[in-house]
Amino acid sequence: MKILILGVNGFIGNRLAERILDTTTWEVFGMDLGSDKVDHLLENRRFHFVEGDISINREWVEYHVKKCDVVLPLVAIATPIAYVRQPLRVFELDFEENLRVIRDCVKYKKRVIFPSTSEVYGMCPDESFNEDTSHLVLGPIQKQRWIYSCSKQLLDRVIWAYGQEEHLSFTLVRPFNWIGPKLDALAAPKEGSSRVVTQFIHNLVTGQPIKLVNGGEQRRSFTYLDDGIDCLMKIIEDPDKVCNGQIFNIGNPLNDITITELAYTLRTMYHRHPLYQGDGVGPEIVHVTEEAYYGPGYQDMAFRKPMIQKAKELLGWEPRVDLETALALTLDAYLLEHQNRSMRAESPAVFPNPPIAPKNAGDIVHSMGVAPLTLDPSPSRGEGGGEGE
Ligand code: UDP
Repeated sequence: MKILILGVNGFIGNRLAERILDTTTWEVFGMDLGSDKVDHLLENRRFHFVEGDISINREWVEYHVKKCDVVLPLVAIATPIAYVRQPLRVFELDFEENLRVIRDCVKYKKRVIFPSTSEVYGMCPDESFNEDTSHLVLGPIQKQRWIYSCSKQLLDRVIWAYGQEEHLSFTLVRPFNWIGPKLDALAAPKEGSSRVVTQFIHNLVTGQPIKLVNGGEQRRSFTYLDDGIDCLMKIIEDPDKVCNGQIFNIGNPLNDITITELAYTLRTMYHRHPLYQGDGVGPEIVHVTEEAYYGPGYQDMAFRKPMIQKAKELLGWEPRVDLETALALTLDAYLLEHQNRSMRAESPAVFPNPPIAPKNAGDIVHSMGVAPLTLDPSPSRGEGGGEGE
């Protein structure tokens, strides 16, 4: 089988390509703006990579849609700060450029597995979100945060319509706060440019205060990357031919915590980490308003928990990685990356140990003997001076 992954150097794309090459005989064709996360795959004869931009190299994309069996268009902007600061860019890339790819799939009758998003549920009041019955609830137009959700939702609807009217073979997948190595570049420290877990790790290693936006009582269900990849593999394989026309939430409802709990838990894990050298105190955890942190176009959802019954029943899939393990694996990977970068830059390394390069993050946990942790919420509001920057 030939798989086309657009955005193969991204957080999901690189791990998916790696898994396909490791566990199947399939070929992977991939395009991305850069190759830093897939450099180690370039020697593999079943991996065909080209550096490019889907909005410029359209002929390459069309040719490879025609050539491949399954298409995963993973190119998208998916960080909240971009939704409020560059809403048009989000629309152009996430909707317009991806629509072109979808139309290529329709033209050549190719199966597409499209990354929708858990954002589409927005401020849905359901306790946990159901793919087929939950309402998709967004805020007013002035709140540009919802342009990502709205762009994705419209593309979901367009894909659905192509399935209905032109027999496009498709599956929509909705990742719920996936975390893991290579999620965001720690070297891109601009506030808000990372997802919350990487932002907090960045604040920990640089000693800057961790900021809880709007009280930190909002909840998210964090899903470990490899669990998500397991599910994607089952969807690509689809041995029982049950995935066509389906939408799947891919998340871990058991890993549901408040952002405050996340902050205190990560800080404790950092202090206990073998690479940590400090006095076990900072950085402080403070409160900020959404306006101060993101600007006026931001609005948040209070919770986002997936219902995953459909993936269990149709695919036999269930997430396996608990929250502490998921956070430990992610923290390990980032602390090693940070240490390696510090040493390469010949600036004083924060950590004393030499860099270790195990095969995967799981080995790191074992090699460093990270002690199992229990969640440590300690949610004392206002620590470190309350709101404000
Ligand atoms: N958040 C926070 N402090 C930060 C970064 C994010 O309190 O430094 C909050 C953010 O307001 C949101 C949650 O953490 O409620 C998750 O943010 P993320 O950027 O990971 O994306 P989301 O889950 O909202 O798509």
